[in-house]
Amino acid sequence: MGDRIFLSSPHMSDEGYEMKYVQEAFDTNWIAPLGENVNKFEEELAEKVGIGHAAALSSGTAAIHLALKAAGVGEGDIVFCPSLTFSATVNPVIYQNATPVFIDSDEETWNMSSQALEEAFEKYPEVKAVIVVHLYGLSADMDPIMDLCRKYKVSVIEDAAESLGTYYKGKHTGTFGDYGIYSFNGNKIITTSGGGMLVSNNEERIQKARFWATQSRDQARHYEHSELGFNYRMSNVTAGIGRGQLKVLDQRVAKKREIFEFYKKELSNLEGVSFMPNNNWNEPNFWLTSMILDGPVKPIEVMEVLERENIEARPVWKPMHIQPYFFKCDFIGKGVCEKLFEQGICLPSDTKMTKYDLNKIVEIIKGL
Ligand SMILES: *Cc1c(COP(=O)(O)O)cnc(C)c1O
Repeated sequence: MGDRIFLSSPHMSDEGYEMKYVQEAFDTNWIAPLGENVNKFEEELAEKVGIGHAAALSSGTAAIHLALKAAGVGEGDIVFCPSLTFSATVNPVIYQNATPVFIDSDEETWNMSSQALEEAFEKYPEVKAVIVVHLYGLSADMDPIMDLCRKYKVSVIEDAAESLGTYYKGKHTGTFGDYGIYSFNGNKIITTSGGGMLVSNNEERIQKARFWATQSRDQARHYEHSELGFNYRMSNVTAGIGRGQLKVLDQRVAKKREIFEFYKKELSNLEGVSFMPNNNWNEPNFWLTSMILDGPVKPIEVMEVLERENIEARPVWKPMHIQPYFFKCDFIGKGVCEKLFEQGICLPSDTKMTKYDLNKIVEIIKGL
């Protein structure tokens, strides 16, 4: 049996860009939080996505947490979140002692349904913030969502953890809301082993986020604290990895697109198979190719037969409103996200896969 084929795993540049920046950190003994790589990574990422300001943090989850704080979300506030997402979107709402209300997906985007969102606004007009997620690198349909959020005057946080490099109508996801966040966890399209970024055009809020992230140290010779602090800053070593990875983001997107197109060509005429939606306003990063199986073959059968060959595949995210921890939270919608969970499967989308690997995978699936 060959090496394991992963859903998505770290892929350093062939050119060795990452090592060069990490070496610089070593050579200057800046093995610390903060430093040249951190500052430059913030600038370079902000420039790449086209936004004013960025704060490099220890994780995407930390970035969501500080976005919520920056948006003024606190005890007892309501925050709308998509139900179909990874738990890290929602956990920080609980860290802030606020209450998530879960919104259904729509079939056309797999992301937050603007219809369900509108219903939610009617039921909870006092809502404080909305978190929009761009799953698997597909963008949510931002125009109707932003129109509604402006109408109700609530802050928008875009969880673009899975969608760095994705465009909606020619603009990067993560730059539409008041705040955007990216993740550099090991399985994301580019990685620093672990890390995140908070972005915004509001310079004052980004500076505030950096302050909270470094233990909220007031300006004084001694240690003075007038606010609660966090240890959320990115290290200068991992920021070096991030700077190198950012240089190959476009290459990674191109490869992920090839993977998607290969699967689609090879598998879409099988009975009951359809692929994740790609709308004309959407230019995805194709982080994970996902498909729906509503014919004779079930997702679990595909996962099992791939697992026997040491190949990883996963179900689509299990919706938050049916997770034991979030059982008591309200859900607005018709259950589209439950259907996506039951019928959806994420295929191996690792950019290190060879033509041979991809052929092997589709042959196994066709054999079912
Ligand atoms: C990965 C991920 C996160 C969290 O990012 P970390 O850097 O792992 O904390 C948040 N939201 C979504 C949708 C993710 O996929």
